[in-house]
Amino acid sequence: MPSYPRFVADSMLGHVARWLRLLGYDTLYYRSIKDWKLLKIAHDEDRILLTRDLGLFRRARKRGLRAFFVEDPSIERVLAQLSARYGIRLEFDPNDTRCPECNAVLRRTTSLAEVGGKVSPAIASRYKEFWVCPRCGKVYWRGRHWRSIDQVLEVARSERAKIIARLSLRERAPVASESSEESSEI
Ligand SMILES: [Zn+2]
Repeated sequence: MPSYPRFVADSMLGHVARWLRLLGYDTLYYRSIKDWKLLKIAHDEDRILLTRDLGLFRRARKRGLRAFFVEDPSIERVLAQLSARYGIRLEFDPNDTRCPECNAVLRRTTSLAEVGGKVSPAIASRYKEFWVCPRCGKVYWRGRHWRSIDQVLEVARSERAKIIARLSLRERAPVASESSEESSEI
């Protein structure tokens, strides 16, 4: 079963798209795409539109689409907010991950025969577990960058805890704020 929800990210959010794919979430991203096409995709494919463009965000909301305005693009903040809002998990699942480059579901393998021609002998001897993209052919492994992936997710989880704590405080407040422009989603 693929992970839900699904997203479509605007052209300023390539880094967010890559992270969501790594975490297993089906996320479309185009380096260059017209706003009306993003809105159409969000509508036709029931995807949450992620955008840094406040005007586009408002247009999406006016049409009754699900949309999320990314005010602060730091990846830890974005992931924390998306997790608090949509429940996306902030742990890497080796059996449910997508190609950061092309969004295809990756196949996990320990077979060197499958990846032998695509990685150097040094990598092949050092690592036992790989992920292969059936669409673009890329091969991934937990290389030296892996520690920074773990760190980002750890920071995102603690940011999420702060957001949830703030939300529950607000729920307990006797008077609800009317100026909810800060709220970035429907
Ligand atoms: Zn790929």
